[in-house]
Amino acid sequence: MRIFDPHVHMTSRTTDDYERMHGAGVRAVVEPAFWLGQPRTNVGSFLDYFDALLGWEPYRAAQHGIRHLCALALNPKEANDPRCVGVLGELPRYLLKESVVAVGEIGYDSMTPAEDRAFEAQLAMAAEHDLPVLVHTPHRDKAAGTRRTLDVVKGLPPGRVLVDHLNEVTVGMVADSGCWMGFSIYPDTKMDPGRMVAILQEYGTERMLVNSAADWGRSDPLRTRAVGEAMLAAGFTEDDVDRVLWRNPSAFYGVDPAAPVPGDDYAGNTIRRGG
Ligand SMILES: [Zn+2]
Repeated sequence: MRIFDPHVHMTSRTTDDYERMHGAGVRAVVEPAFWLGQPRTNVGSFLDYFDALLGWEPYRAAQHGIRHLCALALNPKEANDPRCVGVLGELPRYLLKESVVAVGEIGYDSMTPAEDRAFEAQLAMAAEHDLPVLVHTPHRDKAAGTRRTLDVVKGLPPGRVLVDHLNEVTVGMVADSGCWMGFSIYPDTKMDPGRMVAILQEYGTERMLVNSAADWGRSDPLRTRAVGEAMLAAGFTEDDVDRVLWRNPSAFYGVDPAAPVPGDDYAGNTIRRGG
């Protein structure tokens, strides 16, 4: 079973996790930018973090046979802190880098006017750089948050939008929108492998993405593998599993995660497009 985890926060994981992930079949990951637990107090804190996602983290992953790509953004939570918003002026030069495959996580946390402004600005940046977007949906008031999210992303082609952290309540409206559907599988909250299989049985495997999210909270970077096993046990074929866990994320991000990137160096700082 080959696995491309489209949303996992490796910064918060140990080297043992990389080893276990490789053992479970994980060969590629996308790490979206998010908060650090401790609130940031200045723009420089983002830049050091972005540089780590482009340099140190891919190096650490490569030592365990895993390709590390990332999505960069001002996350919705910190979009509410005026000390952080200046990072929006720094983002465009980062979006040119080879291993940046999307803008994310963007979207809503508490649905404030400041979050609206950051969301809109970053959707425009994604369009300008021809990148897909990874959109976080709020954990509180999920249905209303997801509905509003779908309204805001209408300016982009739905095939370029991943709406993440879905559940049984929100999957239907995203399926109808034509956007990609993301599911974060956790050990004991929000969404588990059994419920995920039931959703795949009802909605099919097209535009479906499964991730482990694996962050600072109680989480498990092997939940993707657990979904693959649960799919097989429920009668899905190996090809179905490969579609959901490998070909779908490759198609959404527009990358071949198994191919070496020409000119990719240790720092991951090669420029992909234009200046
Ligand atoms: Zn996340």
